[in-house]
Amino acid sequence: MTKIVIYDTTLRDGAQTEGVLFSSEDKLDVLKALDDFGVDFVEGGWPGSNPSDDEFFAKAESLELRTAKLVAFGSTRRYGVEPKDDPNLRALADSGAEWCCIFGKSWDFQVEEALRIGLDENLDMVQDSVRFLVDSGKHVIFDAEHFFDGYKSNPKYAINVLKAAEMGGADWLVLCDTNGGSLPAEVSSAVEDALLTVDVPLGIHAHNDSDMATANSLAAVESGCQMVQCTVNGMGERCGNANMCTVLPNLAYKMGVETSEMDLTKLTALSRNIGEIVNVLPRPDMPYVGESAFTHKGGMHISAVTKDTRTYEHIDPAAVGNTRKILVSEMAGKASIIEKLKGLGLECGDDTPDITKKIKEMESKGYQFEGADASFELLVKRLRGELEPRFTVEGFKILIDNRLGDMDTEASIKVLDSEGVLEQTAADGNGPVNALDKALRKSLIRFFPEIDDMKLTDYKVRTLDEKSATAAGVRVLIRSTDGKHSWTTVGVSENVVEASLIALVDAIEYKLMIGE
Ligand SMILES: [Zn+2]
Repeated sequence: MTKIVIYDTTLRDGAQTEGVLFSSEDKLDVLKALDDFGVDFVEGGWPGSNPSDDEFFAKAESLELRTAKLVAFGSTRRYGVEPKDDPNLRALADSGAEWCCIFGKSWDFQVEEALRIGLDENLDMVQDSVRFLVDSGKHVIFDAEHFFDGYKSNPKYAINVLKAAEMGGADWLVLCDTNGGSLPAEVSSAVEDALLTVDVPLGIHAHNDSDMATANSLAAVESGCQMVQCTVNGMGERCGNANMCTVLPNLAYKMGVETSEMDLTKLTALSRNIGEIVNVLPRPDMPYVGESAFTHKGGMHISAVTKDTRTYEHIDPAAVGNTRKILVSEMAGKASIIEKLKGLGLECGDDTPDITKKIKEMESKGYQFEGADASFELLVKRLRGELEPRFTVEGFKILIDNRLGDMDTEASIKVLDSEGVLEQTAADGNGPVNALDKALRKSLIRFFPEIDDMKLTDYKVRTLDEKSATAAGVRVLIRSTDGKHSWTTVGVSENVVEASLIALVDAIEYKLMIGE
């Protein structure tokens, strides 16, 4: 069986995602992560089009890449210009990248309406642009833009465009579903037809506008394409591109296709790492790598999964480096607590009924440990006497003053450390919770310098429904990170500030428990 080549375009198509902006340093980090992971090609962007891409290509030259070949992207020459006089093609020829990818039009409608040139003139542009790069010593990948729409409108012409790039000397011809509107059966038949005419290996580049990008990529592979162009987390313009994090495990685990040496147990880490770099966290419900991809909630499902994971899991989460999560909710009983303890690496002892009883009691007050693993773990350790409080909050006061028009908030707090030393501090903040958080840390940092690298990344408040909780009030969820780990804690009270303080104290206790 032929090996399937993975071509990443996170740095080019992915850079088109709304809200994403790569600095040249970000791009280097992404390139290194992809190379570490083992992809075959990384498309770096357009040399000559903007200073950040130029800087990136200049810096990337000095990197020793392990597996990835860096690709410079551009387009065929403009109409009426010799390839050697086209600034875009020149920039590609002059770039340090050995591989270039250029796109050209393959839809007759686009040639006649958007370019407003003759169909044969477009064929010449494709062929001589590829030829120019090949003569400049480059390996060339040709992206046939709008190939599938072109094939529907004028199949003969779309295939002639491929033929032109092949005659120009292209190493690969990539069929693009640029508008993302095709369906798998259409992709299959167009690929099969193209294979009858051209001898160069084919690739697929699918956009996700019909939520079919991954399905179309798999269909194309099944029909004979040997390269898949995709992005990490499916990033890309509009609805995104084919998602490497679903394409790869489907190819490897479902279709038994061979790819280059990539350790798929690092796939979840790759997805999250790229998410951190671009500051867009992967969707929790993303198949294979999302936080919820192997999360079980319903009580009956949980007892079945406990007996045999195959009952509600299509693959072992470890195969993609993800983990199983069991949500503790009122729906679940002892079985889910046992799974949860196991999931957190905690012992399941004779005290499980006591823990279950305690959780039920807290739930009746409005607690929910579903998204708050850190508070759950602290609770279990406190019940077992394995965790002594490292500090106690003796009291606090909050002052909000708007006499001068601004809302000034000041919190003062009294904290007793485990040796009984009292520390009293005050801090300003942009609201009561922020001021309290700052005052608390200020008082503790002297005893526990390790909390310095900790910060809050999310803060959620829910008003509790009186029916489900005996004491009406609020539940606060706080997510914290120290750059290496992130964890969520929960607090419940009739008062939002007190609920926040409970969650803040847990967040710090958790950090002190896990250490550096
Ligand atoms: Zn694209």
